[in-house]
Amino acid sequence: MTTPYKTKRKEGKTKKIREGKKKLMKDKRKGLTYESGMSGPGGSMDDLEAPAMKKKKVVCETCSLVGHVTRKSQKCKYSTNEKSKFYVNLPPAVETVLVQ
Ligand SMILES: [Zn+2]
Repeated sequence: MTTPYKTKRKEGKTKKIREGKKKLMKDKRKGLTYESGMSGPGGSMDDLEAPAMKKKKVVCETCSLVGHVTRKSQKCKYSTNEKSKFYVNLPPAVETVLVQ
């Protein structure tokens, strides 16, 4: 009772797999041609850029510390955040930052 149904289903599955394999091989062949054609400087440049984009390093423009961007951060040496222990600190000279 279950056997014919199962077989029928299996047949359909196999057909699908076979078709998928055909497609995959086609794609693989395509990919190989692409790879050999793209082994120029453009491809490797993308590889170099990708990891750098992942590690987003932010630097404060006021105290140059890494991890925050503005003085609003508690981590800033010259924080404008009342909760920060650096709150009372004032930047030595805003002009120095501007010169940089
Ligand atoms: Zn800072």
